[in-house]
Amino acid sequence: MPEKLSKKTRVIDVGGVLLGGGHPVRVQSMTNTDTSDIATTLAQIKHLVEAGCEIVRVSVPDDDALAALPAIVKGAGVPVVADIHFNHKLAIGSLQAGAACVRINPGNIGGTEKTLAVVKAAKDLGAAIRIGVNSGSLERDLLDKYGVSAEALAESASRYSELLESADFRNYKVSIKASNVAMSVAANELFSAKSDVPLHIGITEAGTKRMGIIKSAVGIGALLLKGIGDTIRVSLTADPVDEIGAGFAILNAAGLRQSGVEVISCPTCARTKIDIITLAEKVEDMCAKIPRRLKVAVMGCVVNGPGEAREADFGIAGGVGEGLLFAKGEILKKLPEARLLDELMVLIKGSC
Ligand code: SF4
Repeated sequence: MPEKLSKKTRVIDVGGVLLGGGHPVRVQSMTNTDTSDIATTLAQIKHLVEAGCEIVRVSVPDDDALAALPAIVKGAGVPVVADIHFNHKLAIGSLQAGAACVRINPGNIGGTEKTLAVVKAAKDLGAAIRIGVNSGSLERDLLDKYGVSAEALAESASRYSELLESADFRNYKVSIKASNVAMSVAANELFSAKSDVPLHIGITEAGTKRMGIIKSAVGIGALLLKGIGDTIRVSLTADPVDEIGAGFAILNAAGLRQSGVEVISCPTCARTKIDIITLAEKVEDMCAKIPRRLKVAVMGCVVNGPGEAREADFGIAGGVGEGLLFAKGEILKKLPEARLLDELMVLIKGSC
């Protein structure tokens, strides 16, 4: 499978992070702290960046949040996107405060003139804009014409895209979101077929960690496999740090941005005589910070394990009180169960 499947979009610059045009699909998240609380917000951003977050979005709902923005931009260590609803002055203020990008929904920012005022500020300051189209705030005429649908979402996005182009502004990306996965996917496909504007993709209001990751993996994954999507956010009702891990896992599964250790493990069956579930979780935790691209297998039985995981660089297979250490399907050693994990880690670390 090719490492890079993305459709060629135009390249945009979000505070020095390039998006689109074959650049790696960027993973982003959003803080859920009170933005006016600078220390708490920066602490959360630090955790996000440590987890791999490449662009962070913060809400700027009022003047207190706006006042905190310069310090947040300065301390973030990654480009900051200011999330604005309803108030174009907060968008302009955020750009003046150093935000690399503002996310606006032209459908609720107060009309064409106000949208263009934000565009002018972004242009003057060399910043980017994210146009966010959402199924909850579609224009009346599009709702009359199509109802809430992929067509309405895509046409709304095209409309705003044309507005920005008419102002000779090209440093923008578009997001088209609905909580309905199929509608989100169809709307992004429709827009992408007609435009080279980079797309930020995600499923809005995806839900709690379990359902949110499943919905996002289906929706984001479906688009990524068609080469659509230049940056992603996995929206979860959870700690935003979880969004980053989930984002990279989706990219990994889609064959994009492959790095780190991929742990493969068997589903277990009646042949399993050791606690593979705990063992696989431990291996995943212990390998979480290893940057080298490796496939490591944790298999439930010595009879079929090494063969079934032939494509793994290293692996263990459990037996009764003992197990096997193997590499590329070849058995290296028989070991007591208690030593399996340690010996596997010695092998992995020795190869890095
Ligand atoms: S590797 Fe062994 S234990 Fe695991 S599913 Fe296959 S046969 Fe069952």
